[in-house]
Amino acid sequence: MEGTKEPTSTKTDVKRLSLAKRAVHERRVIIYRIEHGLDVYCVLSRRGTRAYVVIPKTYCACSDFFFNTYLTRRRRKCYHLEAIEEAVKRGKTNVVEISWEEFEKHVLPKIILGFLL
Ligand SMILES: [Zn+2]
Repeated sequence: MEGTKEPTSTKTDVKRLSLAKRAVHERRVIIYRIEHGLDVYCVLSRRGTRAYVVIPKTYCACSDFFFNTYLTRRRRKCYHLEAIEEAVKRGKTNVVEISWEEFEKHVLPKIILGFLL
């Protein structure tokens, strides 16, 4: 219900939680562990074409976070932040060991798309 005017916070919370749970269930909550050094937290879009970088409890690269959390403070978090919390809590993060080269080649383009769309 993205276009719905003045959704009740309860309704929004329920929807966000259900989207988050689906992302966890579909194993789209991923920690890219780059050469045993840097961990990059991401939530993939449903089709897996975009990746939203998340700093747990703090930031998400999606437009919902930018407009509704950062700018207008209408919501505490987007569903990607919720999905990361949910996955960490249940031990359901998908850890992918990856080289810098592979990260740049296969993940970075999805991150760029996540910023743009
Ligand atoms: Zn987000």
